[in-house]
Amino acid sequence: MYNVWENVLAEIEQKVSPANYSTWFQDTSLLSSTDDSIIIGVKNSFHIKQLQTKFIDIIKEALNNNHLPTKNISFEVQATNKPKVRAHEVVATPESIRNHLPLKKSSPTNNSGLNIKYTLDNFIVGSNNDLAVAAAKSIIDAPGTRYNPFFLYGGSGLGKTHLVQAIGNELLKRNPDYKILYTPISDFYADFVNHVLNGKGKDFNNKFRKLDCLIIDDFQLIIGKDKSQEEFFNIFNNLHQLNKQIIVTSDRLPSQIKTLDDRLANRLTWAGAFDLQLPKFEDKCAILRAKADLMGAEIEQEAIEYIAENTNTNVRDLEGELSTILLMSEVRGLTPLELIQNGSASIHSTSKLRPTTSKQIAEKVAKYYNLTYKEMCSKSRVTNIKTARQITMFLLSTELSMSTTKIATEVGVKDHTTVMHGIEKIKNDLKLNFTLRDQIEEIKGQIYG
Ligand code: ADP
Ligand code: MG
Repeated sequence: MYNVWENVLAEIEQKVSPANYSTWFQDTSLLSSTDDSIIIGVKNSFHIKQLQTKFIDIIKEALNNNHLPTKNISFEVQATNKPKVRAHEVVATPESIRNHLPLKKSSPTNNSGLNIKYTLDNFIVGSNNDLAVAAAKSIIDAPGTRYNPFFLYGGSGLGKTHLVQAIGNELLKRNPDYKILYTPISDFYADFVNHVLNGKGKDFNNKFRKLDCLIIDDFQLIIGKDKSQEEFFNIFNNLHQLNKQIIVTSDRLPSQIKTLDDRLANRLTWAGAFDLQLPKFEDKCAILRAKADLMGAEIEQEAIEYIAENTNTNVRDLEGELSTILLMSEVRGLTPLELIQNGSASIHSTSKLRPTTSKQIAEKVAKYYNLTYKEMCSKSRVTNIKTARQITMFLLSTELSMSTTKIATEVGVKDHTTVMHGIEKIKNDLKLNFTLRDQIEEIKGQIYG
């Protein structure tokens, strides 16, 4: 029963927007089915109404295609949602990761492991990702040439999985015979262990040799300098020598993956490293507008700007906030802007959780680095004091949107260009320095916690 419902959902997911899918269908389940009737479990009664009025035709079609009855469909609210199968609960079988990948997210996939919902068309290009997108396009035009390997890195929720899967899907569209495999590194690892346990270590390598393109996601999760890393290295070299396209994503640069063999770290960035950055205000607005359009939802420009301004984390959270506001707007019968104006739409993912003052921020930073406020705001050029000062400038700008002139007064520096320089410095360091990223997150936790 589980599998049938997964198939039904996979079909539906192809026909509705991602936001509609995650809002209305993600938590559904098949409670029972007989020859002529079925009962679908849903989250609450509001969902029943929506599914019956808006989506019934799509549901019927998907049921029909999966040989389930379509005449007597009823919905029931479930007390608790059926537990979902998650990636790590799926035990890799020796038949290879390909077989279990499609089950993972109830998403339409083919045997490449790619999810067809990720396309270049629905990937919004902005100043935060334009270089990476340009490289992606060049790979699609001429795989295995200039950007090989293609190394894409950046923080969580910034579009790495989306972009690399879009490359895969586009390559397949152009050449359906192209042999391509998308796999998170954890699945690669599980598959390898399985092969070895079954005495089929050689088959593992052979399987990958046949590929035209290998996409490895979340490479930072590679474990230990052991045999699987060596195996990956062999596979990498084989494919690379044959000019087969290799694509790797990671949340950090290879040099910052402590367990990674130096030679491999070096090779991964042979052809450069492309990063995805946090979207700027304009990028955020463009993404939100595009997503709302894809969902067929109406939303005022002011509401878009409000969400963009107040969501400073990543694109995944932007999507989440948009879906929540659109859903509330339907439930309450108010427009998104009306909701925001009457205070019922609050943004959760933003770091501006609680009001705070510039003094509080400066003091927290100083304390974090074991300095007094006075020491930190002195003219000292000792590295850690200077860094603390620059982090304060950065946080005053990102958290309180203070002007550089005001920040200069707050931290006791001469003029606003020093502040601009300090903020830029931290922004740049954040791209590569994950310790700094963690520290700033921790400081924010202390400010708002
Ligand atoms: P990552 O792999 O970097 O953690 P994902 O690729 O999973 O991030 O992206 C998180 C969500 O944000 C996905 O739903 C993805 O479709 C969406 N997303 C990220 N960047 C963009 C973009 N530029 N345009 C459209 N959607 C995006
Ligand atoms: Mg990802």
